[in-house]
Amino acid sequence: MHLVILDNGRSQLLGGEFEESLQCLRCGACLNVCPVYRVLGGHAYGGVYSGPIGAVQTPLLQGAIDYADLPQASTLCGACKDVCPVQIDLPRMLLALRRRGAEGQPRTTKWGETAAFKAYSQVASQPNLYQMALKMGRVAQKPFVKNGRISQAPGPLKGWTNQRNLPPIAPKERKK
Ligand code: SF4
Repeated sequence: MHLVILDNGRSQLLGGEFEESLQCLRCGACLNVCPVYRVLGGHAYGGVYSGPIGAVQTPLLQGAIDYADLPQASTLCGACKDVCPVQIDLPRMLLALRRRGAEGQPRTTKWGETAAFKAYSQVASQPNLYQMALKMGRVAQKPFVKNGRISQAPGPLKGWTNQRNLPPIAPKERKK
């Protein structure tokens, strides 16, 4: 008798820092509490498994480079760990995947993204600059806003609207 087990790469996770993810029961509880999943829905994860457990397992099983964005798409609020019936520490593993990406195992952070987030950090940490950027953004977004949503963002932002409409920058400014 021959027994053939198709594990889709799961046995490679045994004994490593992601072994715990194999205990998943597929109950879906972490999906329902995840603030990111509740806004994005399942299709945006691009794999069979979505939500917090998908953000851990899909890069591990289907390629860290192709699915490098998934571990980044988390607020690390910890709700997934709290609700998980087997207490899988998903936030720890999401951070471990981010660390791997930053350390280049394999390199998953694109230089353009790194530069964009550095620029955002500079702007967001200076209130006057931030307010000015918002004003410019409100003008620049006008051609793309239809019925109060952006359904087709231009250029490099296109991916953000592949699965969901993007809310435009709010017209209201925060009172000082
Ligand atoms: S809550 Fe835990 S067991 Fe349920 S799907 Fe998420 S990781 Fe798996």
